Amino acid sequence: MELSLNKKIGHTIRVQGDPVLTTRCKEVESFGPKTEKLAKTLLKALDEEDNGIGLAANQIGISLRAFAYDLRDVNPERHPGHENSEQMYGVIFNPVIESFSEELWSYDEGCLSIPHFFWPLDRPEKITVSGFTSAGEPLHFELDGLAARLFQHELDHLDGLLIFDRIDNKNEKAAAHKHAKEVLEMSASRLDKLKDKTKSLLT
Ligand SMILES: [Zn+2]
Repeated sequence: MELSLNKKIGHTIRVQGDPVLTTRCKEVESFGPKTEKLAKTLLKALDEEDNGIGLAANQIGISLRAFAYDLRDVNPERHPGHENSEQMYGVIFNPVIESFSEELWSYDEGCLSIPHFFWPLDRPEKITVSGFTSAGEPLHFELDGLAARLFQHELDHLDGLLIFDRIDNKNEKAAAHKHAKEVLEMSASRLDKLKDKTKSLLT
């Protein structure tokens, strides 16, 4: 199930249908050269994605609890109003959300593993998060807006959840699934060589 819809990328971004995306990632148990290397790999893979602001380890096939975030130079077309968001850049290991605000915020969420698909999702507007750097140093963030959204989305990836899993309404969930399949097929048809492979990924 190796498939990349981005020819430029050196790391294969796993797409919807790949079981690594629906499997809970394991905690990192020790920090050292391996976690440093994983952090570099994640940041490099994310840097290669023009519109990506976050990337979870399982999106490149590594089932460990870590994700990269990059809120520098946010694309104003993709994230209108957020181009001047917090300039956060790095990798967090074993992240845990410690608190959520009661206020919800709806936003058209996208995912590198479901290219060109966006769906409005309600999520808490503010969160506090703790975790570790690649060297095992503790991290703590109080986040709101796009940063809070990004961290919740990436943490879902580590729990094996995709956008659809956050839609409560049954009909809406079915509609989102159908739409995601359509856009995935459309992306694939642009890359003729990958078309047949992609169809076999869709259930
Ligand atoms: Zn995603």
